[in-house]
Amino acid sequence: MPQAPKPGSPEAIADVTSFVRFERVRKSYDGVHFVVEDLNLAVRKGEFMTMLGPSGSGKTTSLMMLGGFEEPTFGHIFLGDEPVERLAPEKRNIGFVFQSYALFPHMTVAENIAFPLRYRGLKGAAAAEKVVKALDMVHLGHLASRKPSQLSGGQQQRVALARALVFDPTLVLMDEPLGALDKQLREHMQVEIKLLQRMLGITMVYVTHDQSEALTMSDRIAVFNDGRVQQLATPEVLYEQPANSFVASFIGENNLMPVTVAAAGGGVATVTLRDGSRLQTRNPAGVTAGGRALLAIRPERFFIQDGATSGSSILLSGSISDIFYLGDHVRLSVDVGGEKPVVARIPVSLRRSFARGESVALGCAIADCRLLEG
Ligand code: ADP
Ligand code: MG
Repeated sequence: MPQAPKPGSPEAIADVTSFVRFERVRKSYDGVHFVVEDLNLAVRKGEFMTMLGPSGSGKTTSLMMLGGFEEPTFGHIFLGDEPVERLAPEKRNIGFVFQSYALFPHMTVAENIAFPLRYRGLKGAAAAEKVVKALDMVHLGHLASRKPSQLSGGQQQRVALARALVFDPTLVLMDEPLGALDKQLREHMQVEIKLLQRMLGITMVYVTHDQSEALTMSDRIAVFNDGRVQQLATPEVLYEQPANSFVASFIGENNLMPVTVAAAGGGVATVTLRDGSRLQTRNPAGVTAGGRALLAIRPERFFIQDGATSGSSILLSGSISDIFYLGDHVRLSVDVGGEKPVVARIPVSLRRSFARGESVALGCAIADCRLLEG
């Protein structure tokens, strides 16, 4: 009987009904150093997939290879069943939106949007109808005859969006498209793009370094670091079950406390903190006893423990070194004897006041503690 492919292997990825597939893709610009290492990634039809990672982690390079603007040094990229890595960009039927809107300054809004249609030989009434539809989709019907220079940044980005969608592409790629917009407009556009993508049922590969943007928009997120995908999962799984300390601290905020593992087995472990105190924790990653590890606890999972602890929670005691009032929560830095203070977010609705220097006991359910490789 054939063996089931190992999860995450190229064979397993090929098993999934995928629309876009990277198989063992590697890229080097200088022939020495690889900026994308062994990329294996499958995007499903109609999926909103985001490549998220810090600057320089290889996101744009990966997107450019998919778009056809860069060639993989090794490996293959498939669109449907077709290998495309030697196919010219214009043969791939892909829409593109960049951070720099890349609009043609001498053309009107309508002409900019009509450009991909003209390029594909579509003219006349059929083209005009598509342009009107695309303009309506991004709420710019009233600005059709303006030039890009007469538009705000947000409006220019809508034109770029309409131009990427007007020719009914099978796939749309976006590289930090909202990076130049202010926070409020950016958050508005995140929702708008997500709704458009869902309404049109297009497959989207989106690049950003902004984790909250990725969490808001994506069906799944591939977290990049150093040219490698660290984890590919839904926003919820990335947040609740990070595969390693990079993902644990890049997605949302986390306290990562160095510990030594005294005993481990059956999905739980007993760990010793810097100050010598012992705790029980969940150990889903199977960290083994004897070595160093990191205990990860989200700031919002702490609560103020006023009475005695129960068997299902842990306790960290220390003194408050900083207090920040942030409207919906109070952010406490608590010195618990480690190298760094522990950060806790306490809801303001608890109506509890704090003072610097005050001793507090922070409780946390064992279910909310996670042991990771150090
Ligand atoms: P990201 O989009 O995640 O910021 P990039 O894919 O742009 O990352 O870059 C990954 C690495 O490749 C960086 O170290 C960058 O300097 C390098 N790089 C990107 N484009 C080129 C290029 N055209 N020539 C040489 N090096 C490049
Ligand atoms: Mg980039």
